Amino acid sequence: MVADKTADSSKSEREKENILTSTRTVVKEALDKLGYPDEVYELLKDSLRMLKVRIPIRMDDGSVKVFTGFRAQHNDAVGPTKGGVRYHPDVTEEEVNALAIWMSLKSGIVDLPYGGGKGGIICDPREMSFRELESLSRGYVRAISQFVGPTKDIPAPDVFTNSQIMAWMMDEYSRIDEFNNPGFITGKPIVLGGSHGRESATAKGVTICIEEAAKKRDFEIEGARIVVQGFGNAGSFLAKFLHEAGAKVVGISDAYGALHDPHGLDVDYLLDRRDSFGTVTTLFKNTISNQELLELDCDILVPAAVQNQITAENAAKIKADIIVEAANGPTSMEATKILTDRGKLLVPDVLASSGGVTVSYFEWVQNKQGYYWPEEEVEEKLYKVLKKSFETIYHTSQTRRVDMRLAAYMVGVRKMAEASRYRGWV
Ligand code: NAD
Repeated sequence: MVADKTADSSKSEREKENILTSTRTVVKEALDKLGYPDEVYELLKDSLRMLKVRIPIRMDDGSVKVFTGFRAQHNDAVGPTKGGVRYHPDVTEEEVNALAIWMSLKSGIVDLPYGGGKGGIICDPREMSFRELESLSRGYVRAISQFVGPTKDIPAPDVFTNSQIMAWMMDEYSRIDEFNNPGFITGKPIVLGGSHGRESATAKGVTICIEEAAKKRDFEIEGARIVVQGFGNAGSFLAKFLHEAGAKVVGISDAYGALHDPHGLDVDYLLDRRDSFGTVTTLFKNTISNQELLELDCDILVPAAVQNQITAENAAKIKADIIVEAANGPTSMEATKILTDRGKLLVPDVLASSGGVTVSYFEWVQNKQGYYWPEEEVEEKLYKVLKKSFETIYHTSQTRRVDMRLAAYMVGVRKMAEASRYRGWV
């Protein structure tokens, strides 16, 4: 048992180092293609600031536990940094650093007036009480309060953090600041200044990318055969939207297995039966594995679960014509090359999953204005932003003869590289 656990954690350490290395490799390639000198890469390969904090918390049993947290601010040449805070036992400084770079790229891709930031606390929220989680969230805000703020760095939800945690953090910041400051954080409950459409924004953004990709390959969403890996927040909303658009969802999965029906699954029933962790396959017999799911005969494959799912080992067996990455980092660099060489259209994570940060930006704008938009207005604005970004990146990939991932990185780095140059930083 112990040996397995050690092997697992060193694998996850390696994966995180790989995320940082592969992110830097593509950033370098993108800057080279755009003709920027090495000094721009030297600036952008790391976060400008990385804060490490220690947060002592009185636990329910009376003992004190000291948690470690991070906040990274990658580049604020364009505007304040922005990005989620994750609570997870495997959080590392390297991972937070890489994810902050990704947030900069996403903001550049959807043309938001932000740079990228990210935060994380090493903890397991599944083993903590509500009171302990509240103390930790408030303690984290006290520890980083001088470093963040609505015009400096704006946090948001991420893995294992939600609107309740955002509400506690906003309340703590407002107490420190001595006035109500909803623009400090996004992903809040609607009654505290959250935006309509925030919860389903990532899946809406992925759906828009799928529709645009299908147009490029000349087929209709209605009747298209779709496979979605993961049935959590992103995957379940996505299956719902695609089902409503007339697509045939022929496969879905969770951490425990996968379901397949070539005639189309009963999506409404699955949505009704899934639990809050996105688990549903445990209710069924005759499930298949996640590996089998990825290799199913279908038109569109959407990895919406975890990283490193499509690798050099299975990329040659993927049958889908279009792969749209809703998850962060589901495809390795080797697999990206194999899929591209096979003529597949791969829509990268930094574009496909940028609906969340786009609606977070809308939330921040609404907080600044004190004027709130109805859901239709949020959706209309999101559609315009993502359609334009998809088109720009597709056009870049065609004219510069590069895959969509490199094209997205080229679009993503350009604005912060330009802003850094105008400011005289490089
Ligand atoms: P979630 O925790 O709500 O759901 C994750 C789903 O993946 C669950 O169904 C879980 O059972 C399944 N899963 C976990 N491990 C798995 C494994 N090894 N194999 C197959 N399935 C597995 O998470 P989410 O919010 O839906 O996020 C999913 C992905 O999308 C993540 O990579 C996340 O970073 C990315 N993403 C999400 C958002 C968002 O707003 N939710 C925004 C941007 C990116």
